[in-house]
Amino acid sequence: MTSPHISSPSHLLSPGRRHLLRWVMPILLVLLFLMTLIWLPRQAQQMESSERQEQLIADSLWVEQAIRFQLSRDDESMRLIGREIINDRLKKDQFRIRLNALLRNNREFYRVTWFNADGHPVASTDDFPVARNGLSEQSQQTDHNARIIRRPMYSAPAVPPGIAEPVLMDYHIPLFRDNHYIGSVVASYSVSRVLNEMVPWWFAQDNEIVLTDTDDKVVARRTAGGPGLNVYTHRRELELPGLTLRLHTNSTKSAPKLLPNLLVGSVIVLSLGLLWSLWALWRDINRRMTAEDALVNEVSFRSAMENSLVTGMRARDLEGRITYVNPAFCKMVGIAADELVGKIPPMPYWAPEAMDEYQERFSNVLAGRVTPQFETIFQRIDGERFPVLIFESPLVDQNGKQTGWMGSILDISDRKRAEDLNRMQEEKLQASARLASMGELASTLAHELNQPLAAISSYTTGALNMMQNGALDPTSLQPALEKINTQAQRAGNVIRSVHQFVKKREPERQPISIKNIVDNVTPLIELQAQQFLVVLQTAIPVNLPNVLGDAVLLEQVLLNLTRNAIQAMAAIAPERRILRISAALDRNTSSAQSSQQAIIVSVIDQGHGIPPEVAAGLFSPFFSTKAEGMGMGLNICRTTIEFHGGTLTYANNPTGGTIFRFSLPAQGSAN
Ligand code: ADP
Repeated sequence: MTSPHISSPSHLLSPGRRHLLRWVMPILLVLLFLMTLIWLPRQAQQMESSERQEQLIADSLWVEQAIRFQLSRDDESMRLIGREIINDRLKKDQFRIRLNALLRNNREFYRVTWFNADGHPVASTDDFPVARNGLSEQSQQTDHNARIIRRPMYSAPAVPPGIAEPVLMDYHIPLFRDNHYIGSVVASYSVSRVLNEMVPWWFAQDNEIVLTDTDDKVVARRTAGGPGLNVYTHRRELELPGLTLRLHTNSTKSAPKLLPNLLVGSVIVLSLGLLWSLWALWRDINRRMTAEDALVNEVSFRSAMENSLVTGMRARDLEGRITYVNPAFCKMVGIAADELVGKIPPMPYWAPEAMDEYQERFSNVLAGRVTPQFETIFQRIDGERFPVLIFESPLVDQNGKQTGWMGSILDISDRKRAEDLNRMQEEKLQASARLASMGELASTLAHELNQPLAAISSYTTGALNMMQNGALDPTSLQPALEKINTQAQRAGNVIRSVHQFVKKREPERQPISIKNIVDNVTPLIELQAQQFLVVLQTAIPVNLPNVLGDAVLLEQVLLNLTRNAIQAMAAIAPERRILRISAALDRNTSSAQSSQQAIIVSVIDQGHGIPPEVAAGLFSPFFSTKAEGMGMGLNICRTTIEFHGGTLTYANNPTGGTIFRFSLPAQGSAN
């Protein structure tokens, strides 16, 4: 049973270290390879060098043996001569002939001289032999020593007095006959010839050969193959009776080259190339990994962003197949992503009642005509409908080719709710404003109602009087009753119009004529106008087209504008207190479609006008310059007119005062 916590050690390492570790092996291998490559030639060089050294030692030994061998053969020859002299078999005159024959074959001899006991030459290979005391000092000393120990001895090489060359090494053989010293045979070797004759040419070709005494004083040198390079050297003692010489061999060969051949060189170049390409690969992979890391970060950043979005995202390919949805979209429609991706229309979130609209828009999409922004209704999995706002944009790949569409979908249920709430509040406000207007009108209204009621009362009194006076003719009562009826209707109309006006209700749009609206509201306008001694003039052409609108709301607009106009003229000279209401068809503001004409209604006063500081806040809610003004009038008017698709503007009246104009889209043609 393994615990889930036990994992491979590489899991414990950070990605950077793991990445480094991956490179350790190849780098180590390449380093090992390089080290071997560097070490191998060095090793080969050392081997070659020690081989040469060993060869030199062996050759030097061989040469030493050769010299020794030759000297011992010479020694034998000389001893034989000595013995013949002792035995008196070799006469004085035969000596030279005999020795000359020997010297011809052994060219290392410079001369051989036979001295008598007194040191005078008896015979010699030289034509003019020197006496013993003509020999070098060392030679004379050796002769003496040899006589004492009675054995042949070699003298230290030296140049005999009186001449410049050659260096001679004398071999003294003392001669005793019946224990009497009778002289000596002295064979003089030319030391340089010893080297020339006894060292084989092949050895001399490759080595500088030097003979020295024990103090390393050079006595002979052979440099047939040039001077030695002091790389491979060897020294051997040449022990001779009475004398020790040293044989130095110094090879003319240089140390072996470190890069003996092209192969090693090219292998090194190749491995350097390998190292370089490894480095380049490492750099490249590093860059790729950095890019990959950045990409992973980017992707996780993006997906985190997409996942945290409240906006739904939906991508479709050119055939309309869903290729991607984000979690917000899935949450919105209540369907999992894997159930949505790959789907083609009809989509599971399409509401059946809006299917035609979807299909039409979808065929537009396929034809390449995308509505960039539109509102529609989607259906959640539980059947609940919700309004959405969709933004569509083309999806383009890195080559600039379109691959589909990306849509962002906003659930606007909340917004819709807020809008509804807003509208309801607006309606309430308007109703309240109407009530407020009625409050202002109440006293005038009372006065207005008072007239028909007083008339009714007086007509009724008259009728009663007639009845009491016995006038039982019903026809005589008829005029009075008709007048009563008219007055009652008049009062009823006033009451009804007030009721109509203040009733809280949903706005409803119907085709209505401007003339009707103005007529409806004229009694109420006149009530105020009379109060301020204002003359009302209306100029409404009869053949104006209808507008589509809510009569009560438009009446409210008119009532507001006229009330403001009347109040603006309250302090103006009475002859200028004229309020005009006019309407006209405006063909200039019509849009491309000729049927979309506007009707302009103007409310014109000759009041105090609007100064710039008032103009700035004119349409703001609760802006008023009046003591008991609510400041909502113009604000409500503008909202109402815009709700009807029109605009509310104002301008200075050229004859003084202000003109408020509102436009309303005309409906159809004139009737
Ligand atoms: P209120 O009438 O309650 O003040 P309104 O929104 O209807 O609120 O009007 C705002 C202000 O605009 C008024 O206080 C007044 O100063 C100015 N105003 C409106 N209509 C006119 C007009 N016809 N002439 C001059 N000033 C006007």
